[in-house]
Amino acid sequence: MNKAAQDLRILLWDIDGTLMRSNRRDAFKDYTIPMLEGVFGTAGRLAEMSVSGMTDLQIVAEALRDEGFTHEHIRERAHDLRERYMLEMERAVSRGGEGLFYTLPGVREVLEATAQHTRYRNALLTGNIEPAAHLKMRLVGLSEFFQLPGAFGDDSHDRRDLPALARERINRQLQFDLEPAQFIVIGDTPNDIDCARHYGARAVAVATGRMYTPQDLLAHEPDALLPDLTDLSLVMRTFDQL
Ligand SMILES: [Mg+2]
Repeated sequence: MNKAAQDLRILLWDIDGTLMRSNRRDAFKDYTIPMLEGVFGTAGRLAEMSVSGMTDLQIVAEALRDEGFTHEHIRERAHDLRERYMLEMERAVSRGGEGLFYTLPGVREVLEATAQHTRYRNALLTGNIEPAAHLKMRLVGLSEFFQLPGAFGDDSHDRRDLPALARERINRQLQFDLEPAQFIVIGDTPNDIDCARHYGARAVAVATGRMYTPQDLLAHEPDALLPDLTDLSLVMRTFDQL
């Protein structure tokens, strides 16, 4: 690998709680419940679930756990699920107007800085199904930063599968052979940290999610913990050390 490729770091960004948030904690249920009811005839136990850090496929599997649907059943319906999900999400967005989601403070500045820096490339690693991830990025005006392929919630019900998929796709696109340690997963939950660890990638935890305190995140031993993304020079120094 040439020197430029060796120095490269790929920043794999989680979406919810890291880049952006919905205005209400349970806003996702506005479209996930009708989506499940439309495809499976029931939303199972979704209404009472807390889903931080889970992939969308995992959320569906957990919600329907007691309804007799297996992972296999869910995979068979993946196409219907995806279509219905987008239909219901677009409905929720048109009801909620532009204000359903907002970008977290400092995010745009960090993405602008990393996009201009030769050491970094930005990509998504998120539990959202791919079209939902792209729709969210469009709604908050961040699409331009995510031109590389990533890994998404319709790729697996296990977030730990996602870093390997992102690396494979990015290596193919860039024609490089980047190592796992050149990938930095940035997220707000223990699942983000664990999926990085599992793969030998780096983990930067950001305490801007609704579910986990800095102490909760530290217990999962990220390579670094940031309170939020507002201090651009702190964020860049943190990335530079990884
Ligand atoms: Mg998150």
